[in-house]
Amino acid sequence: MYKRRKTQDSPKSSESQPQTLCSCQAIVTDNDNALQCDACDTWFHIGCVNVSPMAYTAYQTLAEQQQFSNWFCPKCLNDKNVDRVPPRCLQTLSDRIDKIEHHLTTLTNKHDQLVDRLDELNENLEREKRRKNIIVKNLSPVEGTNDKDVVFRFVQNHLGVKIDPSSVDSV
Ligand SMILES: [Zn+2]
Ligand SMILES: [Zn+2]
Repeated sequence: MYKRRKTQDSPKSSESQPQTLCSCQAIVTDNDNALQCDACDTWFHIGCVNVSPMAYTAYQTLAEQQQFSNWFCPKCLNDKNVDRVPPRCLQTLSDRIDKIEHHLTTLTNKHDQLVDRLDELNENLEREKRRKNIIVKNLSPVEGTNDKDVVFRFVQNHLGVKIDPSSVDSV
């Protein structure tokens, strides 16, 4: 990972910091283009680990945009025992998963609400349909008369319309 070495330290605190040595045994200073290994935390001059200035700039850009970027020194890269996913990156991934799960829960809730609302609307629609279909109500069955006769009589008496029963198959 690219890291800008602290530059705002006062000279006193810089003096108290332990000197950081590259594999070349020279001190890595604030002014050097240097990378810190994400596994062994050692700082290296980019020239000492064959990192081109262009690649260094790329690491720098990724780091400034807080993108996931790791860098491992050649020694750690060849060491099969080195865990190349540092806990910090796992934490970032874990945070992202948490966010996605939260988002998913929100979406699921919204979906459920919409389904409920849709059910409600469908019920209203059915109720409205049924309401419109009711033309004659509060009629009680009359002995010896079928429903058809009752309806015809009702229509004739109340609406003044005469219907020939033979012209109607059913009501
Ligand atoms: Zn060096
Ligand atoms: Zn290393």
